[in-house]
Parts: sequence; structure tokens; C-alpha cells
Amino acid sequence: MSELHNLSVKALANLLHTKDVSAVEVATRFLARLGGNPHNAFLDIDSEATLAQAQASDAKLANGTAGPLEGVPVAHKDVFVTQDFATTAGSKILSGYRSPFDATVVQRLRTAGMVTLGKLNCDEFAMGSANENSAYGPVQNPWDTARVPGGSSGGSAAAVAAGLAPAATGTDTGGSIRQPASFCGITGIKPTYGRASRYGMIAYASSLDQAGPMARSAEDCALLLSAMCGPDPDRDSTSLDVPAEDFTAQLNGSIDGLRIGIPKEFFGEGLHGDVRAAVDSALREYEKLGAKLVPISLPRTELSIPVYYIIAPAEASSNLSRFDGVKFGHRAKDYIDLVDMYKKTRAEGFGNEVKRRIMTGAYVLSHGYYDAYYLQAQKIRRMIADDFQNAFKECDVIAGPVAPSVAWKFGENANDPVADYLADIFTLPASLAGLPGMSVPAGFGTGDMQKSETGIGKPLPVGLQLIGNYFKEAQLLNVAHRLQQATDFHLRKPEGI
Ligand code: GLN
Repeated sequence: MSELHNLSVKALANLLHTKDVSAVEVATRFLARLGGNPHNAFLDIDSEATLAQAQASDAKLANGTAGPLEGVPVAHKDVFVTQDFATTAGSKILSGYRSPFDATVVQRLRTAGMVTLGKLNCDEFAMGSANENSAYGPVQNPWDTARVPGGSSGGSAAAVAAGLAPAATGTDTGGSIRQPASFCGITGIKPTYGRASRYGMIAYASSLDQAGPMARSAEDCALLLSAMCGPDPDRDSTSLDVPAEDFTAQLNGSIDGLRIGIPKEFFGEGLHGDVRAAVDSALREYEKLGAKLVPISLPRTELSIPVYYIIAPAEASSNLSRFDGVKFGHRAKDYIDLVDMYKKTRAEGFGNEVKRRIMTGAYVLSHGYYDAYYLQAQKIRRMIADDFQNAFKECDVIAGPVAPSVAWKFGENANDPVADYLADIFTLPASLAGLPGMSVPAGFGTGDMQKSETGIGKPLPVGLQLIGNYFKEAQLLNVAHRLQQATDFHLRKPEGI
């Protein structure tokens, strides 16, 4: 049993149900791996709280009331509020904050039996693509510690890749589940907007934010997603009235004759050669499995960047106005009056990227600029959604790269925030349309291997993005699962794990 940390969610659930291992043993084994906080992936660890949950799970396993995932550990991105652990959203402004309740997603996974290992590092308020915007330091990519894990769910992706947790939650507003999953060689799915409740998920851009699971395989993601989804009408009015579903039910379905749309805009100039090669070889696999590749067009792909970087900051500027030092988190020490307290608290509490977005957001919403920016962006957002519906007349799922490159080195884009924004180009369209999207390990690239002195670079994971139509998560997971039956990229691990 020395390899417990390398087992899948499914395998762990089986061992726990057959009582070959106890929840406390599993939790203890994982907690032992968290000593020294490898890769700076975690922001809060509390072994007592974890072990108490594990004991409760063991009691349920003993008396026959166990949930399907009883005793399997999970770690949560720090934007989900939790009673048993601190919640900061990667920001100084929330340091020391403890929620009086659990986010719906956290609560549902607990009801399914999962034991919380701790809270995971992320970009501050989920704003970022590299986890370099966390107030608590960057997360290292387990495949090459000189490189970013992606963002904003960087801690989630690194934790799963490094065998610190068998699964994690993430949130995806413009790619934050898919892109770090791609950079760290794991599997992640962002469901249709409204499938998972946003209650207790600290809001970044409410019309885009979605929760989703990150794990090694599509099968494990399906197990978690089945527990996470479902309506939450009293607490999130945008949660859809679509019943929870068993997302494992369609796994192993045939994909013979499946039409996979290949958007030409996803394979243009900016796409790095090593990413293109890995994505191409995954597409060849699909052809071998009987799928047909269909050329399609998503003509407004490029516009998704300005549209997203108007709408998301606009919503953020409104959502983040609640952090004023009055009710929770950080409060400045010396101030003259209330307004001065607000100003100093926010100046001290927010990092630069968050401030940049609040300012951009306030600007695009301001009188005189609203029509030119915000309203225009909303119109184009609608057209982007329409482009997808046109494409889905010709295909069943859409495939392409998740990001133009493999994980980059720390500091590479440090003085150029726009470089990070541009790298979101392939994940933003599905977010703006509210469609489900996945990242599936598809091979390895080399980053700057050619440039390195020895010519020997570390293998760096490449993800294939799969986008489905609304509510087609089960189909998407099956398409991913079929690739994982035919390849072993999702099973490979960074050296020493
Ligand atoms: N990189 C994008 C941003 O910074 C997406 C982040 C996300 O999905 N949370 O906004």
C-alpha cells in the first residue's frame, strides 16, 4: 500500500468500501505528504480537522451509511468557503477569514463522503493564468519547478499532479480549470454555466464563474462532478433546474462516427509547434477510434480576449466592492475616518493585478464609456455564443489546444500582464458562451528545450481541449475517457512522484 497516493479516486473508493483501508489511514498517508508544503500548493492544512472528517467517514463505512466517495480525500481551491479551514481566495484582504458555512460544492462532496485535506493556493480572487498573482507566493509546476503550474487553479493542478491529493476542486471563469490542468498533465472539466452552484464560491465574474473537478482521469472527474452538480435554487439563482446526473453512465460509449469539429482559428500562427504536434496526434487517435474530423470556424475567437477582459473586470469591480474592512478580513490599522479606512484597507489588502482589474472594470462601466465598452462587449459575447451554435450544427464536440504553449517559466510575463491575457485565447470563447469544456492530457512538449544549453529539456504536459454543447458533460467525459483508454499520458507522473 505504499502507493496509496498514486491511486485513482475510483480505486481508493473501492478499497475504502471493501474496508481494505480506512479513511483515517488514507488521510494520514496524504497528510504525511503535505509536510513542508511541497510546491507551495496548499494555503491551509489542519490535520485535526481532516482526521475528524476521516473518522466520521469510517463510522459511516462501518454502519452502512457511506456515500459513494466515502473517505476519499479532496482538496479545495481557496475560493470555496469552508467552515473547517481558513479561506483567503489567495488574497491578503481575507487573511484570517473563516466562513460560518461551507460552499454548496464543498458540502455536496462531503455528503458524497469526501474528506477535506485542506485549501489550495490560487491566483488572488482567481485572477490570473500562472498562479503568480497569489498573495501567498507562486505554486511550482511539479514537472519543472522553474515553471508556472498555470492558473488560476494552480494549487489544485499541482496538488493532483504531485500526488498530494487524488482530486481537487477548481473554478473556471475564463480557463482556470482547463489551463492549469493542461500545464500540469491532469484532467479537468468546467461544466455548463449553472450546473454547479456558485453559493460559497467567492465571486470573481458572476456571469462566468463555474466550479469543476480536477483529477488524473476523466473517470475520476465524472465521479466528482456527479456529486457536485444539481440545482441550488434557494442559494444560487443562476443554478439551473437540471437534476444531478450520473456522469459515469456514458463512459465507454462508442465514439464511432462522432463528428469532432476542428476550429481553424485554434490552429493559427501563435500556436507553438510542440503543442500542435501533441494535439494533432490526439486527433489521429480519435480517427483510429472511428471519429471524423470536421473543419469548422469560430470566427470571433480573437475577439474573445477584449470581450472577456472587459466583462470579467466589470463584474469583478462590482463583486469586490464588498471587501472594505468592515465585515471580514483585513482592516487597515491607522485611519482618520470611514472613507480613509476603506481606502487604506483596499490599498493594503489587494494585489496589483486585482487593483488593475478593479480600475479597468470601473472604467468600462462608467458613465460615458459604458456604451462603448461594456455594452459592445455584451453584444459580441452573444455573437460568440451564436458562433458555437452554428458550429454544433456540423459537429458533436469541438477539439483544439487548451493554450498556445506549454507552461512558461516564472517571471517570463512578469511585466507584461497582456501576455498572460493573450494566452487565454482558446479557453475564453467557451467561457463566454457558458459551454462545458475539458482539458485532457494529450502528450508532452518541450518548452524551450531547443534553447537550453544541454538541449535536454524536461517533458512538459500538453492538454487537448474538448468543448461540448450545453449539458453534454456526459458525452464530453466519455470522449475524454476513450482517449485515456487508448493512451497513457494521464497516467504519467513527474519524476519522483
Ligand atoms: N486567466 C483568466 C483571468 O485571469 C481566467 C481566470 C479564471 O478562469 N479564473 O481572468
